[in-house]
Amino acid sequence: MKRLSRVIFILMLLSLSSLRAHAAGIPTGDLLQGIKPGPDGKSDVLVVFPHEDDEMYCDGTLLKMKQDPAVRVHFLVMTLGDLSPSKDVLGISPEKMAAIRIKEMGKVAEVVGADSYIQWTIHDQGLGALPREELANKILKVINDTHAEVIIGYGPEGIYGHPDHVAGSKAADLAFAQSTAQKLYYVNVPRALYPVYHLLSKTNPLPATVKVDVRKVKKMKMLAIDEETSQKYFISFIPKLEMSLNFDYEYFTLAASKP
Ligand SMILES: [Zn+2]
Repeated sequence: MKRLSRVIFILMLLSLSSLRAHAAGIPTGDLLQGIKPGPDGKSDVLVVFPHEDDEMYCDGTLLKMKQDPAVRVHFLVMTLGDLSPSKDVLGISPEKMAAIRIKEMGKVAEVVGADSYIQWTIHDQGLGALPREELANKILKVINDTHAEVIIGYGPEGIYGHPDHVAGSKAADLAFAQSTAQKLYYVNVPRALYPVYHLLSKTNPLPATVKVDVRKVKKMKMLAIDEETSQKYFISFIPKLEMSLNFDYEYFTLAASKP
């Protein structure tokens, strides 16, 4: 594992140096382009992730969205995050881990300025064991309750292949198809980092279709990610490095769109 960590670190450094060249081909935009707001004139964005820290891939975009008073942001976190490796590093129980992570996620919601944070109590690594239809129906209910026009979640590769990321993505796809939401976006990473994540997931994300300029909210984004102290500082060097990367752009793939 130590050797793999070193390989990943070196690849990350190499990748970062070619970041600018790779980002050039993807158009800059925002995720609300072409969205018809709800009857009250507001647009609702629902962020659907399995864990209390997955939103780190889009915190800047959410912060930017929330500068517009006509945008509401809702977080859905599907699992308790109770099996995080940081529980072993810290020597605490899964229950204590869950309590800490939920509190951390509440602080992220505060920093981002989210309008709601919906927390489910499914155990970490438990999404894959649920029937996909059942999980999709639960997500669909949240989409309906929040009147979401835009859904953001993981793509089929789950960035680095975590089974909850993959199962959650499949269920969110299904829920979106049955909903009145207009656009479904997958979070992505700079293309230059694909080889790094490929080592873990053996697959690449779908090509990004849009990048969002988050330069003006970078400090607040880092403040949001720093609220996830247990995940950033108490697992290993790799998450710490990943959660410390503060790019100028966040990347997304438009996965599905409805009129
Ligand atoms: Zn996760």
